[in-house]
Amino acid sequence: MKKVFAIRLTAVLLALIVITGCSTKNHHSGKDDGKLKVVTTYSILYDIVKEVGRQHVSIHSIVPIGTDPHEFDPLPKDVQHTADADLVLYNGLNLETGNGWFQKLLESSGKDGGDAPVAELSKGVTVKHLSSAGLKSQQDPHAWLNVENGIIYAKNARDALIKADPAHKEDYKKNAAAYIKKLQALHDEAKEKYSQLPDDRKLLVTSEGAFKYFADAYGLTAGYIWEINTESEGTPGQMKRIIHFVKDHRVPALFLETSVDRRSLESLSEETGVPIKGKVFTDSIGKQGEDGDSYYKMMKWNIDTIYKGLTS
Ligand SMILES: [Zn+2]
Repeated sequence: MKKVFAIRLTAVLLALIVITGCSTKNHHSGKDDGKLKVVTTYSILYDIVKEVGRQHVSIHSIVPIGTDPHEFDPLPKDVQHTADADLVLYNGLNLETGNGWFQKLLESSGKDGGDAPVAELSKGVTVKHLSSAGLKSQQDPHAWLNVENGIIYAKNARDALIKADPAHKEDYKKNAAAYIKKLQALHDEAKEKYSQLPDDRKLLVTSEGAFKYFADAYGLTAGYIWEINTESEGTPGQMKRIIHFVKDHRVPALFLETSVDRRSLESLSEETGVPIKGKVFTDSIGKQGEDGDSYYKMMKWNIDTIYKGLTS
């Protein structure tokens, strides 16, 4: 067993050396396009940074679209991109801590020092904590699901890009201002829309309890099967609790996230007779060319789908 492991490790190290060698060569042969090399941990940050950085940035995003960012195993190419990056941007609020993957990635790519160009995009949001027994000391990472927090992310992205690449300061400021205006309009639209919803319909039930920030911003009460994806998902105890919640509150509709296993919510729907009225985006944007393929579009989708599901 030990020998097999040693051989595998050697293979991984060799692969890394080969990758390193290649990228150095490309650099010297002039393939470097002069863009700021940015790494983001998952697709929502990728999209926000793309809006603010536009033509001046080249972004590598680690967790693939549709995949859970709470727990992840970075690939050798992710280590390489992180080592090469001029700037590394992550969510924080315990999102990337599930199996410690992000901290390990920073360490293995030499970006764990105090002066490394690493910034937390959620910095400055009003933090919410988890509420389940045993989890109360943990921060809830899903701040981006309140569009007003998305605006804070965009401002943090702007400031981090300016710090890393002051030569394009004016462009970053201009891009951020236009993007923030668009997000503010969406936030205002959502507030207006949900204020018209009858009180007994202001209930949002999903698989993961990702909608605390959203529910608070738009005046809903959120229910869930499990509170965060790092827990066991869909245990008998969790199912029993949410079935009571759905029945007691006469929840009119359920909503299924695109980045979780669908089976638990489907069995909740069967148990309670409450229909699933659409998909929602929580921890990932949609695939390119499909629904919700940007932060703005996923939030617009969520706002419209949830409203429609609760009123029809
Ligand atoms: Zn989540």
